Amino acid sequence: MSDQPSTSDLFSLFGDFTEEGANAAKAAAERNPNGVNWGKVLPGSNLLRILPPKPGRENPLASRYVHYLKGGERVKQVPCLQAHKGVPCPLCEDAARLDGSDDPVQKEEGKEMRVQSSHLVAAIDMNAPIDLENPSASVKVYELRRGVVQDIAKIRLNVRSGGNYAHPFEGFPIEIIKEGTGMQTRYSAMPCVAQKGPIHTDEGVMRAILTSYPDVFTLHKMPTMDEVLATRQEWQDELAAKAVVSRGGRSAQALAASMSARR
Ligand SMILES: [Zn+2]
Repeated sequence: MSDQPSTSDLFSLFGDFTEEGANAAKAAAERNPNGVNWGKVLPGSNLLRILPPKPGRENPLASRYVHYLKGGERVKQVPCLQAHKGVPCPLCEDAARLDGSDDPVQKEEGKEMRVQSSHLVAAIDMNAPIDLENPSASVKVYELRRGVVQDIAKIRLNVRSGGNYAHPFEGFPIEIIKEGTGMQTRYSAMPCVAQKGPIHTDEGVMRAILTSYPDVFTLHKMPTMDEVLATRQEWQDELAAKAVVSRGGRSAQALAASMSARR
């Protein structure tokens, strides 16, 4: 018998800091606070293993109609109120007004502002190894172009092209090749049927991916009219500030001037 006082009753007053717990804390710290890890289709080859629709959905691609407001600090995307809610959209009105201008610069700005379709998908770029410590970190949300979406729709509908590429066990990657820059950018999409099979052979890795990948449909937050007007204002302020800083920003200045004249 030891003379030392027994401390075992104190052990029930705290928990065990396990390695599992440490890994969970690490993963939580690495996770984006918004829960969305955005990926980018890079020049050259992108080997995207597209993840399936979440339970209750039928399509892995969430499509929406947006205006891209360019020329400010970064491109702003604003969902179109007309296309989604059938109410007058101030950005559609701006685009039409600028498009009808005699000034070729404003006309071009108007074309750039027109509503375009945007398609979001959750995927893993298989050109990089999956992070086995934290597999969900390898899942990113990509925005795909209309032409790519049309191409991959054909792959899904054609059994000879491989069929259901998004199946996590029986699917396969789609190789998206991006070539050129600016207006000359071209994308092509090809099925990599030779790589048909599970995303990963380890069940734990599969479970980590399938329990954590985002529902891209929830990323489509419709703004209110006030939010659209506020974003437009912010964008115009950025254009005006840039035009003052760089004297080459003639078109941005013209656009900001034409819009403030309307206010
Ligand atoms: Zn619109």
